[in-house]
Amino acid sequence: MTETHPVLIGGERRLAAAGGTIDATSPSTGALLGRIPRCGADDVAAAVDAARAAFPGWRATDVTERAACVLRLADALAARGEELALLDAHDNGSPIRDLRIDVRIGVAELRYFAGLALQQRGETIPTGHGRLNYTLREPFGVVGRLVPFNHPLLFSTMKIAAPLVAGNTIVLKPSEHTSLSTLTLAEEFARIFPPGVVNVITGYGAEAGDALVAHPGVRRLAFIGQAETGMRIQARAAEAGVKTVTLELGGKNPVVVYPDADMDAAVDGVVRGMNLGFQGQSCGSTSRLIVHERIHDRFVEAVAERLRALRIGLPEDEATQTGALVNEAQFRKVLGYVDLGRSEGARLVEGGTRPGDAELAGGFFVRPALFDGVSPRMRLAQEEIFGPVLAVMPFRDDAEALRIANDSRFGLTASVYTRDLGIAHAFARDVEAGFVWVNDTGRHFLGAPFGGVKDSGLGREEDMEELASYTQVKNVNVVFA
Ligand code: NAD
Repeated sequence: MTETHPVLIGGERRLAAAGGTIDATSPSTGALLGRIPRCGADDVAAAVDAARAAFPGWRATDVTERAACVLRLADALAARGEELALLDAHDNGSPIRDLRIDVRIGVAELRYFAGLALQQRGETIPTGHGRLNYTLREPFGVVGRLVPFNHPLLFSTMKIAAPLVAGNTIVLKPSEHTSLSTLTLAEEFARIFPPGVVNVITGYGAEAGDALVAHPGVRRLAFIGQAETGMRIQARAAEAGVKTVTLELGGKNPVVVYPDADMDAAVDGVVRGMNLGFQGQSCGSTSRLIVHERIHDRFVEAVAERLRALRIGLPEDEATQTGALVNEAQFRKVLGYVDLGRSEGARLVEGGTRPGDAELAGGFFVRPALFDGVSPRMRLAQEEIFGPVLAVMPFRDDAEALRIANDSRFGLTASVYTRDLGIAHAFARDVEAGFVWVNDTGRHFLGAPFGGVKDSGLGREEDMEELASYTQVKNVNVVFA
């Protein structure tokens, strides 16, 4: 019989109160991997109650001990990284080699936030002799942490570090499409943290997720996912109380290439920026290539050649460079956009088809697609596909490059390749994005704030600001008697 992996509530491993489950199937083979509990409002209420009960004790725990627990989680992730990465490879469809990188990043981020523990400082404000005025940074209480399917293990580790170090307790909800690694990781949460400090619930967004968002006992919500879901969460949260909500949402990220750029580095950056190790299912995918008309033809051909050479394959295969889309809905969506691109009049230069290999026939594989002749107002250029589809648009001068780059509801990342410092800095200044690379794409840096503008979100993560965002400022006035 296929196992149902229990959730974690108040230190106990349990199934959903109503007994429902959701199948976890491999997107690369269709095999049933296990089942996850389909939690409902009762389960969520139990998890929030457990987190509330654990809060006073966790808040009172010395900050260095809280940081030590987070460091233990980093050690556990490092020790079990291979097992967990393989689980994600089967459950999520991304290649094992890329999921190993997620393990390394997760370990580094956990250690980074543990290291910031003593930097959560207040201020003293001069109010005159005989008085003392100071600020404290206090945790909210229970944090609801909702994460998406594209980096399951990474988000269920690095994204709980800051709230925990700040003294909050957590109810974590992974995506219903990729909960297995988090449920396995729950063994470590239960071993390392006092009961109720870290709780894991699973289930559908519209059920378990919604109940968490609407619960009046959760004052701080942090969400990573689609822009539409983020907007719904803001509205829903506001029905239940005044809540602090941070949002890391989608992107349609431009990469602009000037004729003076190092061509090899730019081709490399454009392909790497697509994050095809996650099949383009990445918020930061550089899915709009804006290339100068003078180099357009040869640049597009060079990118197409690189895409053609990519090894698409089973996620557990060491040689695989791009794997399977996470589920049938994503698969149909990507193929739908390939059809749409053609019908809008763009030219499919490369990919966009299912690979012919017999061993991939049972999975949601699509060869990375490159569309040329895209115009900025086409849906192909406007909508987040969250898949392996790259849209190319030519530009003539700086103003046009910037106009195309900013012609989007999203504003997560942007890249520019040029050796001209003036052009690079002007682009960095004027582009509407929260994170800009010059002569690079994709890389994140420990301590460098990541987040978007416009419909890409609000709040910054991966830095000191993320840690501070899990605290509220209290001001204290003292008159010496
Ligand atoms: P999604 O919005 O469908 O789901 C994300 C999470 O929210 C899941 O756990 C889901 O169950 C839950 N959820 C869904 N509906 C909900 C509701 N009504 N109430 C409460 N919770 C709900 O996102 P997805 O398809 O899993 O992930 C892809 C999206 O995530 C893309 O748009 C991508 O750009 C974005 N993303 C952003 C970042 C970033 O840092 N900006 C990082 C990764 C992914």
